[in-house]
Amino acid sequence: METQRPEVAVVRCPDYTTETVYAAVKHSLELLGGIEAHIAPGSRVMLKPNLVRSMPPERGATTHPAVVAAVARLVVEAGSYPIIVESPGGPYTPATLRTVYRRTGMDAAAESSGAILNYDTGASQVAYPEGKLLHRLDVINPLLEADAVINLPKLKTHNLTVLTMGAKNLFGVVPGSLKIGYHSKLVERDTFCDGLVDIVQFVRPALTVMDAVVGMEGEGPTGGKPRTVGALVASANVWALDTVGASLVGVDPLLVTTTRMAVQRGLATGRLEDVNLLGEPFEALCVSDFEKGIDTPIDPGLVPKPLRFMVRMAQRPGAAGSTAGASSALRSLAQGWIWKQLVARPRATERCVACGFCVKHCPVQAITIINRRATMNSSVCIRCYCCHELCPHDAVLLEKPLLGRLVTGK
Ligand code: SF4
Ligand code: SF4
Repeated sequence: METQRPEVAVVRCPDYTTETVYAAVKHSLELLGGIEAHIAPGSRVMLKPNLVRSMPPERGATTHPAVVAAVARLVVEAGSYPIIVESPGGPYTPATLRTVYRRTGMDAAAESSGAILNYDTGASQVAYPEGKLLHRLDVINPLLEADAVINLPKLKTHNLTVLTMGAKNLFGVVPGSLKIGYHSKLVERDTFCDGLVDIVQFVRPALTVMDAVVGMEGEGPTGGKPRTVGALVASANVWALDTVGASLVGVDPLLVTTTRMAVQRGLATGRLEDVNLLGEPFEALCVSDFEKGIDTPIDPGLVPKPLRFMVRMAQRPGAAGSTAGASSALRSLAQGWIWKQLVARPRATERCVACGFCVKHCPVQAITIINRRATMNSSVCIRCYCCHELCPHDAVLLEKPLLGRLVTGK
């Protein structure tokens, strides 16, 4: 762990007008010593926005083109070459990229800033002996060809990781449908997020600039509501940035599974007091009533007394949504059963058009089309929520079973 407190700049940015965003991004990077302190001149710089799927910027699910354009412009001004790179959910093909770039506003961002849009859909498997869980990684080729990465996440709720910020955004370096394999290999949430820590440590972004001008609350990462936070957050340390991002919207940083896994490895502390906050008074930018996702972990202390044991048991090591390593198979089964009664499960609504996209992308083949509607097999489903995240028709609803609603009150 760094001995000096990692620096995180938090700058007010009330809207997405081009010059407002440019000034705010520039100021945030100046607080960190300027872009030149992090990117050598003449570098090929991969800009990694969150373009989870083909959605317009006003939905609040993707990094706003004004933020991407501002960072690209600064990269150009520093004498380097920005290239916008993302592997969204679903197939990783030039046709998909074209649609995603157009819908998310990336083509305009590239044109206005001088950035290049990546269409190379090649991928490689690389050895990563330093990895804790992942000793081989499948990554997109532009990552391997870049001299530096600038990570450009969006601040959003996420039902698997609680929030998606700097760390989770880097899952997008895994090519398209190969992401499914990571979900099926790393089934439990803690394990999946521990694998994400390996990916973050492999990518090691030179900078992370998070778009928290308008974030997403509620059922993120694609089904929630846009929520104005009015800030840009920047740091060379992704774990410190995620700690600050969570605090900004009133979430305990240690509830964010990726941060908790990084803390367990000694890569971070997850404590705001261990971060050197730069910029405006932090409290003035904090949002107090940010709506959490349906599966935000439960504090047993807030649950009616007779039901507390269930929460403790479900969240203990060995439950499907928690850390691996049950003391006995029977206990593990019981924990897994209780966990499934507490967490949300996906259901396709009448909006479903039976396109089959979720069927192809479910990591455990839990979905079949019955009577022209996707049907999720709850006993097979591992609650990865890929179907909810990726359905192009927003047809997947997350519902808590009765017991979960009784215990959590939502
Ligand atoms: S739930 Fe969505 S992705 Fe799945 S079949 Fe229906 S419309 Fe297609
Ligand atoms: S049904 Fe949906 S949430 Fe369940 S495992 Fe498949 S993709 Fe994941």
